[in-house]
Amino acid sequence: MRRTGIFYHPSFSRRSYLTVGRRLADFPAAMQHILERPNVRYYESPAVSEELLLKVHTPLMLQQVRRDPFCATAWHSAGGVVQAVAEVAAGNLDNAFAFIGAGGHHAGRGYFWGYCCFNDVVLAIVNARERCGVRRFAVLDTDAHHGDGTRELIEDDPDILHVCFCGTDAVSADGTKVDVDVYALAEEGGDMDREYLARVEREFVPRAVAFRPDVTIWYFGFDTHLMDYGSLGLSERCYPRIAEVVIKAAEEASRGRLVVVLGGGSRTDLATAIIPKILQQLAGA
Ligand SMILES: [Zn+2]
Ligand SMILES: [Zn+2]
Repeated sequence: MRRTGIFYHPSFSRRSYLTVGRRLADFPAAMQHILERPNVRYYESPAVSEELLLKVHTPLMLQQVRRDPFCATAWHSAGGVVQAVAEVAAGNLDNAFAFIGAGGHHAGRGYFWGYCCFNDVVLAIVNARERCGVRRFAVLDTDAHHGDGTRELIEDDPDILHVCFCGTDAVSADGTKVDVDVYALAEEGGDMDREYLARVEREFVPRAVAFRPDVTIWYFGFDTHLMDYGSLGLSERCYPRIAEVVIKAAEEASRGRLVVVLGGGSRTDLATAIIPKILQQLAGA
């Protein structure tokens, strides 16, 4: 039986970046039935340490985040992702889902924007490398927007595969930094669920399997939904299908070791409908 961790903090269901519209208002109640399963462990996301933050971000940026009232949940958001990746990297969990109140992928070394405060994924990688004896990570970003902060921070790191679904097609010389243009697909029309899923299967899965990461990280936004702010025309049905592909890819690529990090998306109804399904998939049928 898979051991699945769920990282959450009550502040994520209150007002913050990405929870401005109280998108997680129905949590934790909406996942109560999953938390009761014997193979699922609940963790209250701890605050990330200043020591770790300063390994990724500038002191000036930390001051700016501290002054931004919408970043009040940033410490627990990043801290949950950091612990989730560490527990999976150490083999204490097989996979995990990390809720957040403030996003991460638009946070670079010295800047943050777009509902993001600290770069949760990069902080988690830095921490896991130092503490868990792991080195290689595959990061899939299916938020609607380009993960500019993450890309800036890992640009020159050959041990991180970063496949980002956004508005350009590009592959770095060493093949580890990949952008997949899904905006063009949305403009063409057609069955977006099918087209998008086909790109995940084609552009991410073989690369991840060949890369052999220690841990796979999926930066999962549902702002791509046809009714949300980054719409790429995806329907609710698409997300569990993406999850299925990513879980299978992680089985082949990283012995099942997978951390799902919540990204963009604003609607409470979508969060309540989609997230428990993905948690269920992580924990196994
Ligand atoms: Zn986004
Ligand atoms: Zn991108």
